[in-house]
Amino acid sequence: MEKILANLELITRKINEAAAKAGKSPDEIEIVAASKARDIDTLKKLYATGRISAFGENRAQEFLSKYTPELKWDFIGQLQTNKVKYLIGKVRLIHSVDRDSLAAEIDRLANKNNIVQDVLIEINSGAEEAKGGLLISEVEPFAKSLERYPNLRLRGVMAVAPREAETQTLKKLFMGVREVYERLKSDLPCVDILSMGMSGDFELAIECGSNLIRPGRVLFD
Ligand SMILES: *Cc1c(COP(=O)(O)O)cnc(C)c1O
Repeated sequence: MEKILANLELITRKINEAAAKAGKSPDEIEIVAASKARDIDTLKKLYATGRISAFGENRAQEFLSKYTPELKWDFIGQLQTNKVKYLIGKVRLIHSVDRDSLAAEIDRLANKNNIVQDVLIEINSGAEEAKGGLLISEVEPFAKSLERYPNLRLRGVMAVAPREAETQTLKKLFMGVREVYERLKSDLPCVDILSMGMSGDFELAIECGSNLIRPGRVLFD
């Protein structure tokens, strides 16, 4: 645990510097800890620091096995439509909405539970074959189409960058995501979350406008 707390301190310092470069205050940057394969006791201790907004889980089954309402949870992985039922009422934010059938099911179950579910549209910023998410050009029409779902509230976008990209390439991708985020934001008053940045690229992501980072290994290893 000491190692994890030391990691958090280092990450916090880096966030402070990157936020300053972006002209933001550090507390405008949320940390969602990517907690796949990490045990619940560790997560509880980490949550007690007060610096983690939520834990981001990738798989519905694993999420259910860890779930406790004492902590806050986001869903950040690719989501099968038939698994939405395990999340509704338990997760703060679903980061990975990328198709109409999924949006429709979230809306239907949120309605049944009398809640409005916050969601992000996932963007496949590097247009990689094997990844979920929409192309940049598809984001705005899709966002528009979500307006017909009253129990779904679009809060912004989430991007997973390619693993091996060079800094200049990454920066271009991040700026592309930011641009579409800014356009959505100027259209829709609820849009305020730009979720990008993982262990290897969170500082650059913050410099490019991210206000929610999802570190995993750099925090837990
Ligand atoms: C695993 C994961 C992360 C964290 O990745 P690290 O490289 O360990 O920081 C962030 N976002 C998503 C969607 C993930 O699946």
